[in-house]
Amino acid sequence: MLKKSDTRNYRNTRLLSYPPPKNARTFVEDKRPEKMLGKGSKLYSIARLKCPRCHEGDLFVNNSLLSWRKMSEMLPNCPVCQQVYEPEPGYYYGAMFVSYALTAGPTLAVVGLMMLFSQEITLWMFIGALLVSLLLFLPAIFKLSRAIWINIFIGYDPTAAASPQARGH
Ligand SMILES: [Zn+2]
Repeated sequence: MLKKSDTRNYRNTRLLSYPPPKNARTFVEDKRPEKMLGKGSKLYSIARLKCPRCHEGDLFVNNSLLSWRKMSEMLPNCPVCQQVYEPEPGYYYGAMFVSYALTAGPTLAVVGLMMLFSQEITLWMFIGALLVSLLLFLPAIFKLSRAIWINIFIGYDPTAAASPQARGH
């Protein structure tokens, strides 16, 4: 077990060695559980809607998962490392299929709730479940599917924040 002071020292070491040395990949590939959601993991970039390359700049004008305000407005590029977020027109076409998959989860959860109270699920009940989950989760589904999509093509670069460079891929 790490003591709290150990963790602090570990963090300080990371800060002092910035930009990371050539063997920094050992840190990126560190698969200990507490690092699963840490910077350097794609889950971090997706869950926090951060730039897939530097994991620091926001992806969206309004980076909240629940808010409908300016829901679909993406920044043109990363404010920190200058990564271009839409390298070509129609880049996010495939993200649509990711969003279908993401819609299934909440919809099935609402259907599951309905089954607790009703003997049978009619088509209209299913459509209702779909509408309720879209109403609640559309901003999250839209943003997460784009974040997943861009993370498929662009990987984490620990040196990106220190050396901003406009890049498409
Ligand atoms: Zn960036």
